[in-house]
Amino acid sequence: MMRKNLIAGNWKMYKTPKESVEFVKQLKDAVKVYNDREILVCPAFTSLFPVSEILKDTSVKFGAQNAYFEDEGAFTGEVSVKMLQDIGVNYVICGHSERRNIFMETDTDINKKIMKTIAAGIVAILCVGEKLEEREQGKTFDVIERQITKCLDNIEDIKNIVIAYEPVWAIGTGKNATQEQAKDVHRFIRGLIEKLYGKESAENIQILYGGSVKPENIDLLMGEEDIDGVLVGGASLKLDSFLRIIDYKNGG
Ligand code: PEP
Repeated sequence: MMRKNLIAGNWKMYKTPKESVEFVKQLKDAVKVYNDREILVCPAFTSLFPVSEILKDTSVKFGAQNAYFEDEGAFTGEVSVKMLQDIGVNYVICGHSERRNIFMETDTDINKKIMKTIAAGIVAILCVGEKLEEREQGKTFDVIERQITKCLDNIEDIKNIVIAYEPVWAIGTGKNATQEQAKDVHRFIRGLIEKLYGKESAENIQILYGGSVKPENIDLLMGEEDIDGVLVGGASLKLDSFLRIIDYKNGG
């Protein structure tokens, strides 16, 4: 199989620039060399530039948690993909459930952000996932299909797109999806990508799992063939737990 696994840390609204710099200095020195996995950290905007200076010639990639789809202008409080491109950002997370649910981002907004991101040669991590009541009503696959179809509308080439399946009920709750639940959705997503983009794209796309990933459950999750990595919130903020997650055993 061609695809590598990706272990991504989403730091959310944590860490000052000084704390971020300290963390990535230690991370780059401690991390082993791997051929089968990529490592990514996504700090807050204020930390991105100093982090970029430290990580630019290392194997650890850096990314943003969000971006705006206009290049510049009267958009108070926003940061453009173009600005991120200028400091060498490798990835942008698009449509995280906190962006969708707290900041009311729509699938249409996310679609524009993804288009802008991949046009700049940056990888977009598209986050999708159902809420608890949607799962309980048996709507999980419908929700995922709708989010993916709308967020990828008019996008012909998905080689710079990663999909992160993050069930909303599992994010920051300590309650992770079981290996079985994650496997079913990951298979569904790969099948959907095959239907929309063909077999080769489906085989190459990285599908990450996110939602209370921690050292205690990483090995089981990564044992699944259709899980190509993880997007980690809370457990990526501490060096020892993030390093243990990066060093997962038993990759599928
Ligand atoms: C996330 O922020 O994408 C996430 C999955 O958070 P946590 O690992 O804390 O559940």
